[in-house]
Amino acid sequence: AKDPVRVLVTGAAGQIGYALVPMIARGVMLGPDQPVILHMLDIEPAAEALNGVKMELIDAAFPLLRGVVATTDAIEAYKGVDIAIMVGGFPRKEGMERKDVMSKNVSIYKAQASALEQHASPNCKVLVVANPANTNALILKEFAPSIPEKNITCLTRLDHNRALGQISERLQVHFGDVKNVIIWGNHSSTRYPDVNHATVGTSAGLKPVKELVGDDNWLNTKFIATVQQRGAAIIKARKLSSALSAASSACDHIHDWVLGTPKGTWVSMGVYSDGSYGIQPGLIYSFPVTCEKGEWKIVQGLKIDEFSRGKMDATAKELMEEKSLAYSCLN
Ligand code: NDP
Repeated sequence: AKDPVRVLVTGAAGQIGYALVPMIARGVMLGPDQPVILHMLDIEPAAEALNGVKMELIDAAFPLLRGVVATTDAIEAYKGVDIAIMVGGFPRKEGMERKDVMSKNVSIYKAQASALEQHASPNCKVLVVANPANTNALILKEFAPSIPEKNITCLTRLDHNRALGQISERLQVHFGDVKNVIIWGNHSSTRYPDVNHATVGTSAGLKPVKELVGDDNWLNTKFIATVQQRGAAIIKARKLSSALSAASSACDHIHDWVLGTPKGTWVSMGVYSDGSYGIQPGLIYSFPVTCEKGEWKIVQGLKIDEFSRGKMDATAKELMEEKSLAYSCLN
């Protein structure tokens, strides 16, 4: 039998955390034969709720769940974890300036970075979900320099899955038959969902999404806007932000990173830019990646048209602005 893997969820008493921990305990994230020990961290005001989540995890009697650590102490939470999913963060409240949210989160992530560096397993894989996800991940990377930079990522898989969802609805095909969409850039409203390389598996073989949709105007306007504004549409409908889809996509992200992407398929992940596609190094930017043996690699050599170039640069520019805003908050 495999040794258990220690998985940390921060902000575990929140909405996404509540949807996420049972998925991890059921093996959705790491596979049906991988035992897990769940570490859950939250802040003092959420301590009682966090304990309630722990009680429910025990009551669910998940066979793969070999232990639960529920705590408000960062040292205990980070101790020996192999995977850290960072959902805890200060929410955007009405009337708050962007700079105020940024300043709160940047100081949270700076503190998390030192706990991570000092107490997590040295090869811990990190996924940041809390917004501003790319910039929070960048702060973690900067302030936890002993963790390999390849290990620090942020979630854009929800945007990726939303793009797959919109295409499959439009073409009336199964989600699983659509592949290789790309989310470029920031997990914000400037994200760019790109279907120029996406395909649909049909009985006649792989067909380009662009050809099957046959309506570039829809792809360049309505489709992009729907994916970009999907989060807001869910808040309007549910009066709460998306949680089950965010949790499910976080599982997909770690699952594919650890267990690999199927041959011929890529996914989108926010990773540290190495300069690929002219995106300046020093940003956490969402790229198409393939994964093998626990390592991601940016897909190379895709042809980028002028329309895509403009969108990719615009979202990079926003990330550079966020980065300097984040640094100004730290000083
Ligand atoms: P959620 O669980 O709904 O969201 C958590 C974070 O995920 C938010 O930053 C949210 O950003 C972000 N997020 C990223 N992608 C998505 C998406 N697609 N849909 C929704 N959210 C997304 O928030 P809760 O308030 O329910 O839970 C947060 C938890 O964090 C609480 O338990 C709280 O106690 C804890 N917390 C921890 C802090 C710390 O570590 N110091 C500080 C403050 C809170 P956005 O706000 O932009 O929607």
